[in-house]
Amino acid sequence: MKSAAFNYHSPETLAAAVTLLGTLEDEGVDVKILAGGQSLIPMLALRVARPEALIDLRGLKELDYIREDGHWLRIGAMTSKHAAGVSPLIEAKQRLFHDATQLVGHRQIRNRGSVGGSFAHADPASEYPAVAQVLGMEFKAVGPEGERVIAADEFFVTYMTTSLETNEILTEVSMPVLPAGCGWAIREEARRNGDLALAGVCLTLQKSAGNITDVKIAAFGVNPTAVRLTAAEDALKGQPATADNFARAAAAGAAALDEPMSCVHASSEFRRALVQTLTERCLHDALARAA
Ligand SMILES: Cc1cc2nc3c(=O)[nH]c(=O)nc-3n(C[C@H](O)[C@H](O)[C@H](O)COP(=O)(O)OP(=O)(O)OC[C@H]3O[C@@H](n4cnc5c(N)ncnc54)[C@H](O)[C@@H]3O)c2cc1C
Repeated sequence: MKSAAFNYHSPETLAAAVTLLGTLEDEGVDVKILAGGQSLIPMLALRVARPEALIDLRGLKELDYIREDGHWLRIGAMTSKHAAGVSPLIEAKQRLFHDATQLVGHRQIRNRGSVGGSFAHADPASEYPAVAQVLGMEFKAVGPEGERVIAADEFFVTYMTTSLETNEILTEVSMPVLPAGCGWAIREEARRNGDLALAGVCLTLQKSAGNITDVKIAAFGVNPTAVRLTAAEDALKGQPATADNFARAAAAGAAALDEPMSCVHASSEFRRALVQTLTERCLHDALARAA
């Protein structure tokens, strides 16, 4: 199928894009931002989305960067996932985000798809929103009222919905550098390599003298947004990092999930079982990496 007709705009600066978006919104035009197009273009072709206008951000070179800023890494929204995936800075300072990026789609998808687009799209099966929950990421948005920073736990609202206003553009995502000695892990189950996950888990873990001092765990592909497994985290904090405790915590985390989604490829109970198994395996992975 082909998309319905739309007006195409290709601003050359962020300021021009923000002004244009605000003007079209005020005029009541149904307008969509186009980034890498890896999710939006198929939606247009299937006519799941039928915007009257598209604002293409691909000319905005000012949103294509990866920078270190003290204990934070800052990535421009239009940075490709390929660039993030091969960045030596990200690989050295933020291994969870690095490893998550390798799991996103195929190389062709990562070449075209932007980092910002994945967060703005907020697919519940995407790796990035779960990583954002675990790392406490921040999102910078710019609109007619100016700039604001949104914390990860306020950014993702529900299925493919963020707290971005319709007249705002996501310009930057920021994540703290992984602390020295912190273990990390991400695992997922997908039908084919490169597919969106049926279910996945990511986490960070810190320990001291054999006891877990901090652990943050999130699951994706199971609920309308990525979700923190707080029951598993609570079962682990202050406890010895043992296989028995990992198994108990993984079971507690999976049991406490809201009813997981169900589809022809994976029932709700299968997804719950995946979360339990993946959590347990991730805990072992992260322990092996924690100093
Ligand atoms: C075969 C296939 C497999 C895939 N597998 C995975 C996977 O395993 N994991 C995964 O996470 N993703 C996967 N994806 C999705 C892919 O990662 C997309 O690149 C991503 O979802 C969207 O990024 P994009 O830059 O292409 O955004 P677009 O498709 O251009 O836009 C997506 C949405 O975000 C909005 N948007 C984009 N940028 C901004 C911005 N800066 N400000 C405000 N709104 C914005 C758009 O308006 C649109 O609603 C897959 C896609 C395909 C086709």
